[in-house]
Amino acid sequence: MTVTLEKSVQDFISTPRQLFIGGQWVDAASGRTFATPNPATGETLAHIAEADREDVDRAVRAARAAFEEGPWSRMTASERGRIIWRIGDLIEQYGDELAQLESLDNGKPYAVARAADIPLAAELFRYMAGWATKIEGNTISLSVPYMPGSEFHAYTLREPIGVVAQIIPWNFPLLMAAWKLGPALTTGNTVILKPAEQTPLSALRLAEIMAEAGLPEGVVNVLPGYGETAGAALAAHDGVDKVAFTGSTEVGKLIVQAAAGNLKKVSLELGGKSPNVVFDDVDPALAIPGAANAIFFNHGQCCVAGSRLFVHESRFDEVVSGVADIARGIKLGSGLDPDTQMGPLVSDEQFRRVTGYLESGRAEGARTVAGGQRHGDKGYFVQPTVITDTTSDMAIVREEIFGPVVVASPFSSLDEIAAQANDTAYGLGAGIWTRDVNKAHALAKRLRAGTVWINCYNVFDAALPFGGYKQSGWGREMGHEVLEAYTEVKAVCTQLHP
Ligand code: NAP
Ligand code: MG
Repeated sequence: MTVTLEKSVQDFISTPRQLFIGGQWVDAASGRTFATPNPATGETLAHIAEADREDVDRAVRAARAAFEEGPWSRMTASERGRIIWRIGDLIEQYGDELAQLESLDNGKPYAVARAADIPLAAELFRYMAGWATKIEGNTISLSVPYMPGSEFHAYTLREPIGVVAQIIPWNFPLLMAAWKLGPALTTGNTVILKPAEQTPLSALRLAEIMAEAGLPEGVVNVLPGYGETAGAALAAHDGVDKVAFTGSTEVGKLIVQAAAGNLKKVSLELGGKSPNVVFDDVDPALAIPGAANAIFFNHGQCCVAGSRLFVHESRFDEVVSGVADIARGIKLGSGLDPDTQMGPLVSDEQFRRVTGYLESGRAEGARTVAGGQRHGDKGYFVQPTVITDTTSDMAIVREEIFGPVVVASPFSSLDEIAAQANDTAYGLGAGIWTRDVNKAHALAKRLRAGTVWINCYNVFDAALPFGGYKQSGWGREMGHEVLEAYTEVKAVCTQLHP
């Protein structure tokens, strides 16, 4: 049995998809297209226009015109907020269809996309809609020491940065688009969005939805294409005022270099190798499924995946064998099969990357206690995998695998675990499992990570700021913190001559 595709979804994928520039659907200037495959089968799902440098130029011109002259630039904050709220409502209204597109293109189970990705995306827009009317500056008392006796009236204005390029990955295609677009729009910017080549479909459907919600032409332009061409052209473009990127740390560094040409603003949400720490006092009924969910949610293709599991030595065997049992019991299959708990990895490239790490772990002498192999002989399925007997210098311990693979090791004390948990170039997420509030908050303070979850994992909310310490990124997404990443502050200083 499989989920029956909505007619609108069948129509959407059976028609070649175009680029969305200045409110129009257009072919790529080169006329080229690329295929997005279905990762459950490896077969072509849909054909998509492939944006390149010339299309980037066109989209930047459209975004600039919308920023400077269009109705968007004259709209009240309240009008802007209402459009953004409507985008959230329409995402909910078209939720079944969007979840089907997401499952087909990314491989994740339809039920998961429907229960998590879609409502999170809708709520993100609604949360950000509320901020549109609440962006404020300050009034400031001046003392200017070399102008005794003078009087001033000074204040700050918070203004949009301008034309923003947003480059997103394939792990949560619609949700990553929402995280990026919501704050950019509520602060009045205009956008060129480049979805990942592996998963362009939901962003293209979102472009239609945004137009239906009343977003004026040119405010958001969507350019599917490759990172090395369209993505690189956006990051380097002199007409772009800011670039916001989510993806690998390696490409994040290329974005920073490309942005140097015109010193555009940069925000980055990069990789992780997040520690998940289980103390000796835990309830195993919470901590074991918690540790499994921390790594296996979304097939481990999460930047915050709890991929380094640390368990107190007195509970190590129990917790690891519990997580291994869960791993062995996870049902793999097509995302459209309602019984599926884990779908395929997103692409052949990702499949080869993850199985390469499984191989390197074996070669370096680590022990695989569950999984460790490909599942089936078609599509990009990898067994949920638990590995022990590692050393801190192994590639599987140091590098982001971005697949359903956890390395587990024992610890004995809080001091020891704080040092081990922080022994990474990354600093995105972390988990702590304990009944002892003292241990929980003492360790939370010492972890160098942008999010620390206590007795939970993978909890996301539009109000909770998210981002990385160290090489996991620059800036924060969500919460009110993200508004800083999409605004400039202008100080206005008036001398009063009464
Ligand atoms: P990636 O290369 O960093 O891709 C992320 C986005 O950047 C995609 O839209 C990609 O376009 C684009 N891109 C690639 N090269 C670019 C360049 N030179 N200039 C501008 N944009 C560029 O990630 P990936 O190759 O898909 O995945 C590789 C690894 O990245 C994963 O295994 C994982 O470790 C990590 N990753 C992290 C996250 C996260 O949320 N932090 C998300 C995804 C991946 P194309 O896809 O079209 O090439
Ligand atoms: Mg695809």
